[in-house]
Amino acid sequence: MNLLVLGPQGSGKGTQAKRISAAHALPHVSTGDMFRAAIASGTELGRRVEPILASGDLVPDELTVALIRERLSEEDARDGFVLDGFPRNLTQAEALDGMLAEIGRGLDAVLFFDLSDELAVERIRGRALDEDRDDDTPEAIGRRLAIYHEQTEPVVERYRATGKLVPLHAARSIEDVSTEIEAALDLLEDGAAA
Ligand code: ADP
Repeated sequence: MNLLVLGPQGSGKGTQAKRISAAHALPHVSTGDMFRAAIASGTELGRRVEPILASGDLVPDELTVALIRERLSEEDARDGFVLDGFPRNLTQAEALDGMLAEIGRGLDAVLFFDLSDELAVERIRGRALDEDRDDDTPEAIGRRLAIYHEQTEPVVERYRATGKLVPLHAARSIEDVSTEIEAALDLLEDGAAA
């Protein structure tokens, strides 16, 4: 299964992507995690992106698209993946379509985590107390949500138009959202088997 999770910061998409990854033996491909790992290990990419992440801005598309292209060509992604944090704008969405078309694959579902800004901000602030993320300052949170509305929401609409979008009520508990996702994935798998 080739899956994509989309939604604002704090919507729980990363948590659910990890659960799906474990339950269905699919690699969890998170651009945010990949950038943070590069920063932690002090690679050249890490040094380049560190100030960008801290500000809440997007890393340039060339870097991000190249990173994803390489990651999706790895052996463990051959039978599927859960893509988290990419695509975040229309340029990246077009690049992803191109990449998948090249290898004769498509997306099976785009899970959309729908959440109000109020709840998103509340959740990110709560998370900032547990995790030590440089981009959980009020300024960077505001910037990330603004970019989400401007640049990522058009990506949601693009996938809605393809009929692959699975809207989820992300304000509910982790367990409830997880149950809804598994029901949707069961339907997909039954459809594929039929
Ligand atoms: P969040 O969804 O909470 O903003 P992520 O871990 O997905 O957290 O991303 C953290 C940061 O990594 C982003 O603010 C951005 O700087 C960078 N980033 C992640 N994914 C992308 C992407 N697809 N394109 C550009 N920058 C990205």
